[in-house]
Amino acid sequence: MTESGRREFLATATMLGATAAVATAARAQRFGNPDSPPQGAVNAADNPGTTNTVVGPQNPALADQFPSAISPPPTDVDALPMFWASFNNAHKRIQNGGWARQVSKKDFAIAESIAGVNMHLSAGGIRELHWHQTAEWSIMTRGRCRITTLDAQGRPRVEDVEAGDLWYFPAGLPHSLQGLGPQGCEFVLAFDDGSQSENNTLLLTEMMAHFPPEVIGKNFGVAADAFQNIPLHPRWIFQGKEPGDLAADREASGVAQGGEPVIFRMSRSQPVKQTAGGMIRIADSTNFPISKTIAAAMVTVKPGALREIHWHPNADEWQYWMQGQGRMTVFDTGPKATTMDFHPGDIGYVKKSLPHYIENTGHEDLVFFELFRTDRYEEVSLSNWLTHLPPALVAEHLNIDVATIARFPKGGPGVVPV
Ligand code: MN
Ligand code: MN
Repeated sequence: MTESGRREFLATATMLGATAAVATAARAQRFGNPDSPPQGAVNAADNPGTTNTVVGPQNPALADQFPSAISPPPTDVDALPMFWASFNNAHKRIQNGGWARQVSKKDFAIAESIAGVNMHLSAGGIRELHWHQTAEWSIMTRGRCRITTLDAQGRPRVEDVEAGDLWYFPAGLPHSLQGLGPQGCEFVLAFDDGSQSENNTLLLTEMMAHFPPEVIGKNFGVAADAFQNIPLHPRWIFQGKEPGDLAADREASGVAQGGEPVIFRMSRSQPVKQTAGGMIRIADSTNFPISKTIAAAMVTVKPGALREIHWHPNADEWQYWMQGQGRMTVFDTGPKATTMDFHPGDIGYVKKSLPHYIENTGHEDLVFFELFRTDRYEEVSLSNWLTHLPPALVAEHLNIDVATIARFPKGGPGVVPV
């Protein structure tokens, strides 16, 4: 290269460098990239020294599940406390007759209001007669299950539930669960206390073994010896004989008319919101009266569609992701904004009143549950709010024109189609 050629090359390189710097600066602090200093891979696009590649030790099978954590959108800033957990890697307690795994506040610090349990019972497998100091809500995800319980007025219930059905046992009321043929069942329990554990419930067998035999005999009006073969250790889950006819079990238990239903056929209920993008079903104390401490929404989002930006003014949200995949961003003061990816079997958590959206990032319908420790479902829709204000007020805030605001959906669509 001649001297003049070299000077020209350097000048051009300097100019290109300056142009790149100007372009980077222009990209920073604008719509879609608001922060200073800017965050996100897009801000390093012109700097080959700063790539988004991880070269150190890693587990690609795990990392590939979390594109929003590996390369967050440039709108993300700082970080909220971890709001992702999963049953997929939770310790599984396996016994003959079934298994259970749980995610409580001990494992998932943010989840103060609700603890979750994922359980399987084989055909005939019994979750032993028990009760606890928290209420129990459940969604059946597979197979069929027979449940028994007693209400506070001493009235028994025996019910068969299948995938898509809920049950609710108020705190302290005794119950049992048993898988039915041919494949048994799977379900997800939610306790209305983040610290509750499936491993510290009040068990019939454990209690009977820890009262003096003469008291046990006196209590039931029979000789104490009648109980000499009771189990000395808890059964918790054990394999039993598959139960017979539901009507016969009801009659033998003395089930009569009256009392509040303890089950709700949620997947067969009418959606409260429905668009081309999906639907929302609700089960709370307004249509499932016994469920006084858990309100639930079952949300279906079509591929590419968006569970609209919203928040819940009355309770934290505990999510169970049942089918499909999606991403959620949660915003908090600070500002803080964190985006995370979710798959089947995962759990999400959003603190009361923090805005969030969920976008289906997969190719099949996304189905997830929003659970709240409250008696009724409440939601504030961002678009519903902004379309119920003097348009000039909104226009002044956002530097948009009134004609644009007039095109926003009104009434809160729930799920926005693509
Ligand atoms: Mn229970
Ligand atoms: Mn929500």
